[in-house]
This record gives sequence, C-alpha cells and structure tokens, in this order.
Amino acid sequence: MKVRYRSRLAKLILPKRYTAITLGSRVFTPLASLSAGTLRHERAHVEQWKRHGIARFPLLYFWYHLRHGYERNPFEMEAHRRSRQPARRRPPAAATPVERRPRPNEERGRN
Ligand SMILES: [Zn+2]
Repeated sequence: MKVRYRSRLAKLILPKRYTAITLGSRVFTPLASLSAGTLRHERAHVEQWKRHGIARFPLLYFWYHLRHGYERNPFEMEAHRRSRQPARRRPPAAATPVERRPRPNEERGRN
C-alpha cells in the first residue's frame, strides 16, 4: 500500500467530507497525514481491490453504493470495522507466558 499525501487527484475528485480514496494498492489523500485508524480503513480497501480484482471491485463497490448507500455498503462496513480493530498478531497482554508462570507457592510440574 502506497499513500500519496497532499494529492492533487484527491483534491480534484474527492468530496470534502472524505479523507482519502483507494485505487488498487494506492491511497490518495488531500491531507498531509492520516490517522492509524484511517490507514487501517484504507488497507481494508486495498485488500478488497486485490480480492475482487481491478475490473470487478469498482463495479461491485458502485453497485453496493447504489443499493445500500455509503454507510451500509458491505465494503465500507468491513473497512470501518477494521479501522476500529488494530490487527492483533500477538496474544493479548494477559495471556503472555509471564502470566502463566507458577506462583512461588504452587508446585512445579503439575500443569
Ligand atoms: Zn472506505
């Protein structure tokens, strides 16, 4: 994924209330920076482009947009969900091995 900040293309084609547009694996934004949440959102769109292909994705997206509107477009719903959930590649802190060590008063070798 490549992000083009202060993009003239984005300034031209993007309605004011949107912060970025993803075309294939490239993200265009008129802004100088994007939040981590917005980057996760746009990364979801990059994956959708890959999943459905360059010919099919824009048509599907547009079709869903007509049928459901922006907020209920399944592609946007997936991207919004992803923007709220940082990808977890490690177990949460409470499940780290340190937490599972036996306490001093526990017998060893019984778990
Ligand atoms: Zn989106």
